[in-house]
Amino acid sequence: MNNTANYEFTIIVPVFNEEDNISRLERTLAAYLPESLRKACVLFVDDGSKDNSLAEIKDACSRNKDFFFISFEKNAGLSAAIKAGFDHACSPLVGYIDADLQTTPEDFNLLLEDIDEYSMVTGIRASRKDTAFKRFQSRFANGFRRMMTHDGALDTGCPLKVLHLEVARRIPMFKGMHRFFPALVLLQDGGSYKQVPVRHFPRMAGESKYHLWNRLWGPLADCFAYRWMKPRYLNFKVREENL
Ligand code: UDP
Ligand code: MG
Repeated sequence: MNNTANYEFTIIVPVFNEEDNISRLERTLAAYLPESLRKACVLFVDDGSKDNSLAEIKDACSRNKDFFFISFEKNAGLSAAIKAGFDHACSPLVGYIDADLQTTPEDFNLLLEDIDEYSMVTGIRASRKDTAFKRFQSRFANGFRRMMTHDGALDTGCPLKVLHLEVARRIPMFKGMHRFFPALVLLQDGGSYKQVPVRHFPRMAGESKYHLWNRLWGPLADCFAYRWMKPRYLNFKVREENL
């Protein structure tokens, strides 16, 4: 147990070299928390940043009583940062948003509205403010993934999602699996998800960490890993216990 147990909803924010985004993040998240439909806190996961991000995060946490952080000793990738958030959060709901604020925390409320009915509610970026090339890559990757996984997900890369903690903890996590959450949630007995359009904004500061190679090739190969996983996923229910 930790401080996040005092909240209904933990917002995980993966951060890798985002020093120019932290002050805007702090302002935006602090403004959202009182508006949240569920009592919410923020959990920054510093993924081994080499710039000033961690110092900025610590400052933000010292100014905001509902902000917490964990910091990796070295860079481990976005899936690892999200998994660490899932592992450390103790609130019944978890969500995540990217540090670059290409989506806005205000839209968490759109997702929270439906979370009682579903295992996960995910945003889909209604009108994406990325380059035509990036949108093309994304359309191609989403199409191929849908064909391979039958997950029906229109935009798995959308960095705005809300899940029940118990669902999140049962998602098998490996590098790149953050792109497969809808498909992975559907592996769970009774697993379900809903897609809700959310707003999307251009990246205002810092740089994208992903490019053609790691955005396209990895996810294509991961589709085969998903096909392997699907019939092997473990679903069981304990009938009795005396722990
Ligand atoms: N990120 C991370 N570890 C990494 C790479 C990225 O925690 O190794 C974070 C990054 O700081 C951002 C989010 O993951 O908050 C998404 O990264 P980015 O915006 O670069 O990806 P894009 O939106 O361009 O796909
Ligand atoms: Mg981004």
